Amino acid sequence: MSTTPFIVLCFSKEYQYFFKHQELEVTYPLQRKASIKDIIEALGVPHTEIGSLYRGTQKLNFSYIPEAFDKINIFYHTLPLDFSQKTKLRPKLEKELSFICDVNVGKLAVLLRMLGFDTLFAARLRDEQIAHLASLEQRVVLTKDIGLLKRKQIHFGYLLRSSNPDEQLQEIKRVFGLKPRSFFQRCLLCNTPLKPVAKKDVLPLLEPRTKKYFQEFHFCPQCKKVYWPGSHFEKMKKRLQLNGFKI
Ligand SMILES: [Zn+2]
Repeated sequence: MSTTPFIVLCFSKEYQYFFKHQELEVTYPLQRKASIKDIIEALGVPHTEIGSLYRGTQKLNFSYIPEAFDKINIFYHTLPLDFSQKTKLRPKLEKELSFICDVNVGKLAVLLRMLGFDTLFAARLRDEQIAHLASLEQRVVLTKDIGLLKRKQIHFGYLLRSSNPDEQLQEIKRVFGLKPRSFFQRCLLCNTPLKPVAKKDVLPLLEPRTKKYFQEFHFCPQCKKVYWPGSHFEKMKKRLQLNGFKI
């Protein structure tokens, strides 16, 4: 009598999101030779969501090929997520935290720019371009697309659970322990750091009311948009404060 070989995968409780109401202990038939990365991703969990992998006390990397009747434990990241140390699963992030958002989370990109985080976003970027830029510039990919995070090139990423941009910001705050880097120092349209500019130099661009009430101005050297601390500024500040940021 022959039994189909199988492995048992035990996911920690943080993975319930991916399994809905199903059990976190999964029996997986070993029908072909596949890496643990491929097997876990076939179950719907992208590799970027994995903190560590163990077979007994042995720490595994993603290329490990499971053997029949292995029992593998899958643990979530320790929060706040810190990519500054090399692990068995990914290299270390060599620079301070910066992001790249895919087309579905553009509103989150604007909120992150308000907080001073270098955040790339272009609605026209294709998945392979996002993966390439993320790898080249060591950016953390933020997306709601599980398929994108399965790409090998992407070492650092986070799958947003909510569809609401404010809730997404709260997720990022909790997961990365995010503190504002600066407030309103980055262009919301194109991500370029803003520069102070004398009022006289932007005068022709201003509405009469703005000319009258405001003295401090910044401008974007890239797209030339002018910023001043008007009512929109206060509104945005309030929004970030409501999301738990001290500004
Ligand atoms: Zn700009």
